[in-house]
Amino acid sequence: MKNAIRQSELFTKTRKEIPADEVSKNAELLIRGGFIHKEMAGVYSFLPLGLRVLKKIENIIREEMDAIGGTEMKTAVLQNKEIWEKSGRWSDEVVDTWFKTKLKSGGETGLSFTNEEAYSNILKQYVNSYKDLPVYPYDFKEIFRNETRSKSGIMRGREFYWKALYSFSRNEKEHNEFYEKIKTAYQNIFRRAGIGHLTYVTFASGGSFSKFSHEFQTLTSAGEDTIYLDENSGVAVNKEVYTDEVLADLKLEKDKLVEKRAVEVGNIFSLGAKFSVPFDLKYKDESGEEKPVIMGSYGIGLGRLMGTVVETLSDDSGIIWPESIAPFSVHLLSLGESGAVAKEADDVFKLLSEAGMETLYDDRPGISAGEKFADADLLGMPYRAVISERSMKEGGVELKKRTEEKGKIVSKEELLKALSGKD
Ligand code: ATP
Ligand code: MG
Repeated sequence: MKNAIRQSELFTKTRKEIPADEVSKNAELLIRGGFIHKEMAGVYSFLPLGLRVLKKIENIIREEMDAIGGTEMKTAVLQNKEIWEKSGRWSDEVVDTWFKTKLKSGGETGLSFTNEEAYSNILKQYVNSYKDLPVYPYDFKEIFRNETRSKSGIMRGREFYWKALYSFSRNEKEHNEFYEKIKTAYQNIFRRAGIGHLTYVTFASGGSFSKFSHEFQTLTSAGEDTIYLDENSGVAVNKEVYTDEVLADLKLEKDKLVEKRAVEVGNIFSLGAKFSVPFDLKYKDESGEEKPVIMGSYGIGLGRLMGTVVETLSDDSGIIWPESIAPFSVHLLSLGESGAVAKEADDVFKLLSEAGMETLYDDRPGISAGEKFADADLLGMPYRAVISERSMKEGGVELKKRTEEKGKIVSKEELLKALSGKD
């Protein structure tokens, strides 16, 4: 990614109108800012600014997955019907969100709505012995689900981008150790993306051999899930498993739990031998005995995470990107029509870009100061640096954080220092 660009080079512009059928705040702000383009309900294209955010989220996730032994690969989007018949999930009665199509040469194919079958089938070709395990392959991928409702902007797409990792372990103990590691990695990801303080590990349904799966639920009124949270311990339970029996099991007291709206930003599952058996995925242990591989699956929706950040970290004027995933660190504004200001702003832009600072430079002529300020607030870079006749008279650049009311005048050297000392 280019680290510094002039706004005049960006083909996107901020806009006041949004598609009439768009009701979610994340889509509203992201469309107005020119981060995304709506193709149809639940389907969005990522424009240059939006892609930068997505890539940053992707890199955070990649770092955390690699740190716990993940190996990145890429599975195909078009899926083989026969593979899915092995697990019984080709059937439209079992899975009602498939996008399927006919092949001209005869037969059918479907677009990936998840990855367990693809991974089990691939690993079957490579895993024979205990020496081949454990392994933790993962990929970033477009996923397709024919969702009935898609009113939550990029938080619920019919096409969306996710990371899925699958663990292949020799036994339950080895599986459980990895499960705890990835749980921590997920907490790191959400903290680094700026929503750690709002995100809770939540007991949910659907583990094989473990009673629960774990969801990472972020508190927001834009969420579609209901959770019950113990604010002291930070333990939460999804409504779908909220029963007296489960509460007793988890040693939670009903009257200490508060009901909250939340969105599932990630989900981790123990799968046991659910897929290993139909795919005949087994290995020979040290004594030559054949055993099923123990699996787990771990997903995060990148668009959903990005939408959640917008929902939870914006104000009335626009988005407030956390430093770690902001498209650019600093938004440099050149105000007024004076040639001296334009030249000074060009110099500062050069200085910042040469220092490797991620800079968006609003060099557009003929745009009022008010409009440039409003755009900077809407686009939400963590820092705003303004060059105007006034700032030059006062000795430099006016620097302001997105979250601050008022900025302060700093020299060019101080600007560089303030921006590189951040984080
Ligand atoms: P939900 O219950 O919200 O429909 P899910 O439980 O079906 O989600 P999973 O199959 O667990 O979703 O997918 C793993 C992750 O992918 C989710 O935790 C979420 O972050 C993301 N995700 C799932 N569905 C969507 C979607 N339609 N749009 C964007 N992200 C999604
Ligand atoms: Mg889920």
